[in-house]
Amino acid sequence: MARANAAYYAAHDPFADFTTSPEITQVFGEVLGLWAAVTWEAMGRPDPVLLVECGPGRGTAMADALRAIGQAAPAFRAALRVHLVETSPRLRALQAARVPDAAWHDGLDTLPPGPMLLLANEFLDALPIRQFVRRGGGWVERFVDGGVFVEVPLVGEGGAARPPHPGPLPEGEGDVLETCEPAQAVAASLAERVAQQGGAALFLDYGPATSAPGDSLQALRGGKPADPLADPGTADLTAHLDFAALAAAASAAAVHGPVPQGPFLAALGLFQRTGRLARTQSPARAAALVQAAQRLAEPDRMGRLFKVLCIAHPALPTPAGFEA
Ligand code: SAH
Repeated sequence: MARANAAYYAAHDPFADFTTSPEITQVFGEVLGLWAAVTWEAMGRPDPVLLVECGPGRGTAMADALRAIGQAAPAFRAALRVHLVETSPRLRALQAARVPDAAWHDGLDTLPPGPMLLLANEFLDALPIRQFVRRGGGWVERFVDGGVFVEVPLVGEGGAARPPHPGPLPEGEGDVLETCEPAQAVAASLAERVAQQGGAALFLDYGPATSAPGDSLQALRGGKPADPLADPGTADLTAHLDFAALAAAASAAAVHGPVPQGPFLAALGLFQRTGRLARTQSPARAAALVQAAQRLAEPDRMGRLFKVLCIAHPALPTPAGFEA
């Protein structure tokens, strides 16, 4: 699956298949930028400071964030250094057009040391998952081979093995468990880093707040739900993010949330900022801006299924948007 998804991101414009919050309204990236500015103040205004984004897509959120930071927090704008973690050469080119003064990385390990603020929207859900199925009191791993699912018993030293999952395991025959070790590794390494060097990392993604067993693997091809097993590399594959597993992996630092995206963005001023921007626009554009903000925040749209989690230095006060 890892290989299928890497091939997909390298060869396709993923935004032809789905849309994401920063592409829905510029105010999304703007309020994330203001969140970073407020958190930087709470950190004691370190200078220099890294502003990192993982999986920046078209670079829209970072461009919007930097514009808002430049207007509202010029001292933060002067102190920050932009670092983008992106594997796709095509997307790097799009990002460079919008965020020219960034440095690019294949992974977190090459980021320079120091305090940082990190943003990641729909990044972790793009990382490869493994699927396990409960069979006859043990576990099998489910693979895709030649367009069909095959099940291979999970064995470790001395017999049956446990899937790599930090929480309790489901026990029903046929129950499906998904794990995402790369996402847990990202959470663990960022927790160590911010605990030692200072900072906070903000993840926005979709998934339940508590681990829920079940098959959440989805494929989108040309914007329509598709068979995840067919034609590897031609569809975007995503799975619901397991926030409980992520929080468990980040135990070296303080974990805030997950909170639903709607109240989080509202607390950061999504609607006030949208209203101010709308007043300067034509009636049609103003209405579109308000509708876009509602799409991100309303519970039956993206406001509840999407969650926000923050991994922060333990001495940092509760970050903005997580107070409730
Ligand atoms: N944050 C953007 C894009 C989300 S799509 C938005 O909200 O619009 C996922 C992004 O993660 C893409 O930029 C993709 O190329 C990148 N990505 C996927 N796997 C990655 C990996 N292993 N390392 C770095 N970036 C990756």
